Amino acid sequence: MKAVVYRGPQRVDVEEVGDPRIESPTDVVVRITSTAICGSDLHMYEGRTAAEPGIVFGHENMGTVEEAGTAVTGVRPGDRVVMPFNVACGFCPNCRARKSAFCLTVNPPGAGGAYGYVGMGPYKGGQAEYLRVPFADYNCVPLPAGSEHENDFAMLADIFATGYHATELAGVSPGETVAVYGAGPVGQMAAYSAVLRGAASVYVVDKVAHRLELAKSIGAVPIDYSQGDPTEQIRDRNGGGTDKGIDAVGYQATVAQGEEQPALVLNNLVETVRATGALGIVGLYLPSDPGAPDDNAAQGRLLFDVGKFFEKGLRMGTGQADSRMYSDHLRELITSGRAQPSFVVSKELPLRDAPDAYARFDRREEGYSKVVLKPAA
Ligand code: NAD
Ligand code: ZN
Repeated sequence: MKAVVYRGPQRVDVEEVGDPRIESPTDVVVRITSTAICGSDLHMYEGRTAAEPGIVFGHENMGTVEEAGTAVTGVRPGDRVVMPFNVACGFCPNCRARKSAFCLTVNPPGAGGAYGYVGMGPYKGGQAEYLRVPFADYNCVPLPAGSEHENDFAMLADIFATGYHATELAGVSPGETVAVYGAGPVGQMAAYSAVLRGAASVYVVDKVAHRLELAKSIGAVPIDYSQGDPTEQIRDRNGGGTDKGIDAVGYQATVAQGEEQPALVLNNLVETVRATGALGIVGLYLPSDPGAPDDNAAQGRLLFDVGKFFEKGLRMGTGQADSRMYSDHLRELITSGRAQPSFVVSKELPLRDAPDAYARFDRREEGYSKVVLKPAA
């Protein structure tokens, strides 16, 4: 089959690789209909991680069950399914507590499993024609038959769940004010989730004009940080700090602004949010890793003002999103017409166009904010 294979910094190729097959009775093989490119793929693509050439990328996958192992009872060949990006067992203590991003079975230290991701287990990605899904009764979320809401449901695999998770970590309640740093797909989904949860005002900070416009289209207030200190711009509109804050940027802000001056969005958030407020951090921070490049961002050597955080009595939730936890109720919001997360999808392309799409997404080009690859096209 054809698959998107990492070949080294700034290079992916579409190559012929072996077809996946059932390896355990609890597996299924899914024929992929939609698979999205994610900002998280760029960490590997840009060569900032220990990712070795040869990895098949793709953790935002949906499709149709092609073949099911003998122990699978929840889905059958022909069923339409979406796979939350966390590969998880469903039965370890963390999965039982619905913390599927910290499954202890698939990646024993509890660092979580994912399709096509360095350090997150041996699972191949789904930017391909087919994908093996382990523990399929847990990792396949059944969807209504047909092709309706295809791109909406595709967002359940990661970014809708992750955006929602950010609002959950921050504890966004009706009537609150929320600042979201980052207007990439994850920030858009966090802002959208805050709106769905009844936030009174949502500020979205970025400097990319077309991304700020998109945030405005869902009812958020765009804040262009290239026009001045974003915390001051938000205070000017809001009077005091916001109740809640979300980081949908991660360490990339430090990379963009140079290794010598780590400008952490976390520090902006500590300034933006009022004392005793709360932060939801879903933007990625890399842990130290001897296999990764020796720079401050890739080794997690970043300066966070813990004193300010403490002084303001803030709370913070972090980590990969437990995407399986949210998939059932977010699917229902889509099915009922209450949520249309596909507003963030900017382009559909055949799998063969992945190399060009990666390069353009990496440059934050307009029209390439959220690309969904269609292997059958
Ligand atoms: P993206 O790179 O498309 O978006 C990031 C945005 O942040 C860009 O628009 C960029 O212009 C903006 N930005 C950069 N510096 C900024 C600053 N100082 N202030 C405000 N905005 C700034 O990526 P994405 O796909 O939206 O993902 C965002 C982050 O979320 C990534 O780190 C990704 O790895 C992470 N992520 C985490 C999870 C999770 O489970 N926690 C899941 C998916 C993605
Ligand atoms: Zn993703």
